[in-house]
Amino acid sequence: MPRVLLRGGRVIDPGTGSDRIADVLIEDGKIAAVGLELQTEQATEVDVTGMVVGPGFVDLHSHVNSIAGQRLQARDGVTTALELEAGLLPVEIAYAEAAKQGRPINFGFSASWGMARAEVLSGRPADANFVGALSMLGDPAWQASSTPTQLGAWLGRLEEELADGALGIGVLQGYAPQSDPREYLAVNELAARAGVPTFTHVREIVESDPGTPIDGTEEAARAAMEFGGQVHHCHVNSTSRRHVDRTLGVIERARSGGAHMTVETYPYGAGSTGIGAAFLAPERLHVWGIGPANIVLVESGERIVDEAHLRQVRSTDPGAACIVEFLDDTDAHDQALLARSLAFPDSIVASDAMHVTWPDRSTDTREWPLPAGGTTHPRTAGTFARSLRLMVREQQVWTWGEAFRRCSYLPARVMDSTTAAFRAKGHLAVGADADIVVIDPQRVTDRATYLNSTRPSIGIAHVLVAGEFVVRDEDVVLDAYPGRGLRGQLR
Ligand SMILES: [Zn+2]
Repeated sequence: MPRVLLRGGRVIDPGTGSDRIADVLIEDGKIAAVGLELQTEQATEVDVTGMVVGPGFVDLHSHVNSIAGQRLQARDGVTTALELEAGLLPVEIAYAEAAKQGRPINFGFSASWGMARAEVLSGRPADANFVGALSMLGDPAWQASSTPTQLGAWLGRLEEELADGALGIGVLQGYAPQSDPREYLAVNELAARAGVPTFTHVREIVESDPGTPIDGTEEAARAAMEFGGQVHHCHVNSTSRRHVDRTLGVIERARSGGAHMTVETYPYGAGSTGIGAAFLAPERLHVWGIGPANIVLVESGERIVDEAHLRQVRSTDPGAACIVEFLDDTDAHDQALLARSLAFPDSIVASDAMHVTWPDRSTDTREWPLPAGGTTHPRTAGTFARSLRLMVREQQVWTWGEAFRRCSYLPARVMDSTTAAFRAKGHLAVGADADIVVIDPQRVTDRATYLNSTRPSIGIAHVLVAGEFVVRDEDVVLDAYPGRGLRGQLR
C-alpha cells in the first residue's frame, strides 16, 4: 500500500483541539505519524504549505447513493456520506449494490421506518431505492396510523434490519404528520433498547400546524428524555423555518435535562423533496407562509404556477424532485436565521444531499466531469464549502478547529454507538483512518446555485479516503473507489 506524506500544512485535529504546522504520514490507509519534518522513504510527497489539513467531513444526511453524487460530495470535502434520515430497506441489498458498483467515499444506511411502514401499511415491497421511494411519500395508505398488529410487524422488520447491520433507524415522521404519536415513542423505545440512534425528520411544528398531534421538535425531545436513547434531529433549519430560535430552545432544554439529543443543519433557505409530500398539499402551504410559486421542479427548472398546477403534478408525478423555498436566501433576516442554526452549540453540518437527475431520468454515471443537463439541490455539491465560507471566512464565528468539530468530529461521535469503526473517524490521532481533507483557507467556497446545481465547490484541494486520493489538485481522481460500507455491529 503506498505511503503518502502531506508536507507542511496547518494540521487541525478536533479530537485533541490541536492546531499546528506539521507533516502527516499515511500508511496502509491509516495515519502513521503527525509531526515536524517527518522523513520517510518511498512516500508520495505532497506539499500542502499554506493549506489546512483536517479529518474528512462525515455527512450524517446524504440521500446520494451514486458515484456521481458522491463525487460532488468528495469535491465538497466529504469522506463519509451516510443515508440515515430516510434510510434504506433492506440494508443488505443497499450495502451489496453500493459495494458492487464501487464508491469513491465511505457509505452506510440506517433502517428505513418509511419503507418498513409502507411494506406493512400499503403492501409496497421495499427495494432499497431512495429515488423510487420518493413517489411513495404522497400515498395516504402509508401515512395512516398503524393497528397494533401492523405496528408489531414493522417494528419487527426494523429490528431485523438492525440485526443485519443497519446504522440506527431513520424516521420520516414529518411525511406521516397525523400518525399516532405512540408509534414514534415505540420506535424510539426499540432503538434505545438496541443502543442505536434514531434520525428524525420531525413532524410539523405547532406554529405551522396548530392541528398537529404534537409539536415535532417537542416530540423528538420527549422521546429522548423518556427512553434515554440517542435522538438526532435532522435539518432544524428546514423544519423550523422562522421559528428556529424556539425549536433550538426545546433542544437546549432537553440537553440540559440530560437527554442525548443531537441536531444538524444545512445553510440553504430552500429544501428539496418529492412533490407528493403531505406538507406540500395546496391547502397546507399557507401554514409555511409560502405558496405554489415557491416550489420549483428540479428536473425541468419549471416553477409551479398555481394550486391547480400543483395538484396536477402531485397526481401525475408524485415522486418528482422539487425545490421548496421555505426561507429567502437573499433576505438578511432569513440569512441570520440560518447562521443561528449553524452557530447553535454543537450543531452539526449535514447536507441532505439529493441524487442528480438527467433529462433521461438516469441518476448515475461514471463520467466526470458530469455530463451536462444534470440537476439536483445545490446543497448536494456545496453544503460544506458554503458553511466554511460563511462561518469561518466571512463571519469568523468558527475557528478552523470548530469547523472540523462540527463537520467531522461530532458527526462521527453520533455514530460511535453503531459500530466501533467510527472511532477511527473524525480526528487525526495516529492509527485513525486516513480520511483527510486538505483545504485552501483563502479560496474555499461553494459554487452550486439553484440554477447551476452541479457545480463542484472550489478550494477543496485534496481528499483522501483510507489513504487514497479521490480528489487531487481540486479534481476527481477517476477510477478511485476506496469507499467502504460502514455497517452496524449488531450484525
Ligand atoms: Zn428531511
